Amino acid sequence: MSNTSTQSGSRAKLPPRVTESLINRLTAMVTAGKAGETREPFEMIEVYTGDVVGHLPQSSPQDVETAVAISRAAQKEWAARPIEQRLAVFERAHELILSEIETIADLIQIGCGKSRRMAIEEACDTPMVIAHYLKTAAKTLKPKKRSGPMPIITSSTEEHRPKGVVAVIAPWNFPFAISMSDSTPALMAGNGVVMKPDNKTALCTLYGIELLHKAGLPRGLVQVVCGGGPDVGPTLLDNVDFVMFTGSTATGRLIGEQAGRNLIGCSLELGGKNPLIVLEDANLDEAIPSASFAVFGNTGQACMHIERIYVQEKIYDDFVRRFVAAAEELGKKAGATYDFGPEMGSLVSVDHMNRVASHVDEAREKGAKVLTGGKPRPDLGPAFYEPTVLTDVTPDMAHATMETFGPVVTIYKFRDEDEAVRLANATTYGLNAAIWTGNIDRAVKLASKIESGAININDGFVTTYAAKGTPSGGVKQSGVGTRHGAAGILKYTDTINVGVQKKQILAARSGMPYEKQLKSTLVTLRLMRRLHLG
Ligand code: NAD
Repeated sequence: MSNTSTQSGSRAKLPPRVTESLINRLTAMVTAGKAGETREPFEMIEVYTGDVVGHLPQSSPQDVETAVAISRAAQKEWAARPIEQRLAVFERAHELILSEIETIADLIQIGCGKSRRMAIEEACDTPMVIAHYLKTAAKTLKPKKRSGPMPIITSSTEEHRPKGVVAVIAPWNFPFAISMSDSTPALMAGNGVVMKPDNKTALCTLYGIELLHKAGLPRGLVQVVCGGGPDVGPTLLDNVDFVMFTGSTATGRLIGEQAGRNLIGCSLELGGKNPLIVLEDANLDEAIPSASFAVFGNTGQACMHIERIYVQEKIYDDFVRRFVAAAEELGKKAGATYDFGPEMGSLVSVDHMNRVASHVDEAREKGAKVLTGGKPRPDLGPAFYEPTVLTDVTPDMAHATMETFGPVVTIYKFRDEDEAVRLANATTYGLNAAIWTGNIDRAVKLASKIESGAININDGFVTTYAAKGTPSGGVKQSGVGTRHGAAGILKYTDTINVGVQKKQILAARSGMPYEKQLKSTLVTLRLMRRLHLG
């Protein structure tokens, strides 16, 4: 394992908290090699340098079956505990995650190459989700008695039982937040979880599970399987009772198909091509830094980040000049260190950087203007890419319609609101949208016409994502289902309807002709409607 990393002018050391023994302890937690078959381990690298930091065991299909079986065995006892006992584990986990936040951020940065600020903000997501469900889970999951078809004599109770074992499949861009935050309500509801993190970024997830164990989570309940998606995914989906998937729309479609065949539920959080509309009355002193973060935060590798900006014609030139200046300033503050110095980090890998660069290069070749950026920064690290602003992008270019998922944005001009709505909605995606204006009422009216699961007014994406009480997910090709809020925990449960009839009155009365029964039924239904019963 290397202890140094290359950076422009200086060499940054791997953070001292991340020792070889920590990495070995974490990789030993993967369910792999249990069935006698050992696979070639995955070489994990430090993104900033390309140096190997450890070897991640890879799970075979038999290992996946074993992982689900172990989780299933532990789940029975976990589900039988009163919810207060399950929540107490998370009360402790909340504090442990906050006290260990620096190590979590180190491990996120090693695998993702993102800036320190983004790694810390990512790590904070899980305590926020835990805090929300500590407050609400017991009430949401409590059985609810409702009236039956005949008041007093009948009743019906809505119960929520854990589904069993849930697969949580997570991408590399927010590897700690997504795996841990999506598992939190599943576990609180009484399920076991089998996680499938991305190979590149598994270390931070494994560390999160170690913290859950320290907080008192029973061993065995959460299992981690690692490997290429197509190697472990199909067996995982054949064995679990629900799948929570976050990733690309292409993979989400495969997951949805298999979940459909197996008749298990799924929640799919997928890609986006998110628009920001800047109306002529926007305060640009606030809109420019906010838009810059919405585009370039996490080096543009956030599902909700902005890739298309539509600016009203009166302020277009001013906005473009100031936005480009902000991008250039940010470019000067990119860097590869484990402290708060750099404001922008690396892309996740050289492969991903090449994909981002190919979108920009193709757009340039077909006539787009590159106002700033458009090049890799090998002086900073192997996968750094400049903050890039384009104009004159046309629909035949990949960047116009496909998710580039990097620090690249196109600015377009629009005349009036109708045109802005038409352009913003001209996408197969519907994950996030943003509106900047000085008039909130105007924005709220405009928002009602935008086809998107999240709509942020005078912000890029943080306001909706941090609102843990409101269910949030994609529409159109951006997803199925939601996370957060009551829906974000109820989806991990089966809803059971227990009906009670104190006296047999619903059956047909023997000896009475059906015409007569029909008359009395109609009278009863009319009466109940008038009295607002039933
Ligand atoms: P991806 O779809 O390639 O992979 C996501 C995860 O699925 C990885 O762990 C991968 O190994 C696994 N996987 C791949 N094929 C699989 C299969 N056949 N069966 C089971 N698992 C399989 O996505 P990615 O490149 O890792 O992540 C980036 C994408 O994720 C972007 O499109 C981004 O918009 C999206 N994303 C969405 C959200 C959201 O909440 N909507 C959040 C973060 C990222």
